[in-house]
Amino acid sequence: MKILIAEDDVISSRALEGCLNNWGYKSTVTHNGDQAWEAFQSNMRTVHSDENKSFRIAILDWEMPGMDGIELCKKIRRLSKEEKEIYVYIIILTGKDRQEEIIKGLSAGADDYITKPFDFMELKVRLKNAERIILAQEKERQRATTDSLTQLWSRNKIIEFLSEETEREGRYGEATGLIMVDIDFFKKTNDTYGHLVGDQVLKSVADRLKNSMRRYDKIGRFGGDEFIAVFPRCGNKQIKGVAERLRISVCRKKINTDAGPLKITVSIGATCSENLPSISCEKLIKSSDDALLKAKNKGRNTSVITPIETKQPRADQDKGSGRL
Ligand code: GH3
Ligand code: MG
Repeated sequence: MKILIAEDDVISSRALEGCLNNWGYKSTVTHNGDQAWEAFQSNMRTVHSDENKSFRIAILDWEMPGMDGIELCKKIRRLSKEEKEIYVYIIILTGKDRQEEIIKGLSAGADDYITKPFDFMELKVRLKNAERIILAQEKERQRATTDSLTQLWSRNKIIEFLSEETEREGRYGEATGLIMVDIDFFKKTNDTYGHLVGDQVLKSVADRLKNSMRRYDKIGRFGGDEFIAVFPRCGNKQIKGVAERLRISVCRKKINTDAGPLKITVSIGATCSENLPSISCEKLIKSSDDALLKAKNKGRNTSVITPIETKQPRADQDKGSGRL
């Protein structure tokens, strides 16, 4: 677990760093509030909420040159709240031991307050408690944002991504692509081979879709056998190609299940904000849903873009891949 230390006293910070490293933590030492704030922001920008690389605990001295520990604590809290980032457990480690100071420290958003001189074993135990709280919070975050079967984003989380993207588009004028994917005749797969095999199909389809997307595109399970994917900075020119890439990623190879390899296809409805008179989350969803319905009516295993309907190069694009 990564820990950010802000401590201006070099001897204390070395002793602290040595202990933390011995206890298995990875610590980054800074010597004033501004340096710590810079390290925190830079970590946030570069690791993109990766739990293993993000600072999970911050140990902040109160009195430091420049920005003090209290101000730093408030800034960290504010930023991680705005960015809906991973929770950072903040410990104020200070010589200030008056009751009103402790109240001020905890009111600034610190989770714990330790007064100097402190016992290292006490710090070790308090860090263990911090870890327990962080892991419980992480589990809860995972549960709320991830679909348990496919490990894709949950419906709520993907809609949250979509609305953030449409807001960003409002500000910077970049197009957003949205794709709905629905497995063809999935009920028949369940009815013929059972729900456990159906679940295996759902998981494999989810993996194939995810693996054919860029890192910063997002995909979630919309419900049942339907998936929804958000493509930032994806205009009309690209969306058709993306939709076909996803469709082919599912049907090009049979899916291995306990009932043997099964040929599975999907229908895709896609839209791009460039095609719509105004941008909104609801309009994008409605538009790609309409396109999906058209794809189903066209005979399935195909993709349709709204409102500009394009001819489907089905036979050409899937040649030689053992289509249904
Ligand atoms: P279409 O080509 O029109 O999409 O037909 P379909 O059979 O795929 O569509 P329908 O909506 O009738 O069936 C979807 C099925 O997905 C019905 C439901 O039982 C099944 N389903 C939904 N969630 C799960 C799940 O988590 N696991 C499994 N195994 N099946 C699921
Ligand atoms: Mg279906």
